[in-house]
Amino acid sequence: MPVSNPCVRCGACCAFFRASFYWGETESGTPGGVPDDLTEKINDFRVQMKGTRGLNPRCVALTGEIGRSVACAIYEQRSSVCRAFPPSLQDGVVNEDCNRARAAHGLKPVTPADWGVEDFPKAA
Ligand code: SF4
Ligand code: SF4
Repeated sequence: MPVSNPCVRCGACCAFFRASFYWGETESGTPGGVPDDLTEKINDFRVQMKGTRGLNPRCVALTGEIGRSVACAIYEQRSSVCRAFPPSLQDGVVNEDCNRARAAHGLKPVTPADWGVEDFPKAA
């Protein structure tokens, strides 16, 4: 069982991809949803997290220093697109997009050691 999580020392994907989602996931559409003031409208259907678009994206909800210690300030209220993004090697499966975001921030691909294990069981 993993005893560590690489995300708490990374944050790269939150400063690489545009985090866009259906507007109904915001507080306006769902009580307890993503805070409206941290989002901006894309069109009549979708919004994006502020800061996640442009040449040097960084979500406004990301706190800390990328590659050292980070957190999502709205973790319990984050959108489905954030919840659905798996860190590489979660359950032993490589996520190339995770590693691509890490590379853009000078971080190596996730290894089993980042999860605090020597290796993951091989699929039968
Ligand atoms: S809302 Fe949180 S998890 Fe989603 S991109 Fe922003 S900091 Fe990352
Ligand atoms: S890039 Fe991967 S390891 Fe880094 S925070 Fe995102 S999911 Fe976690």
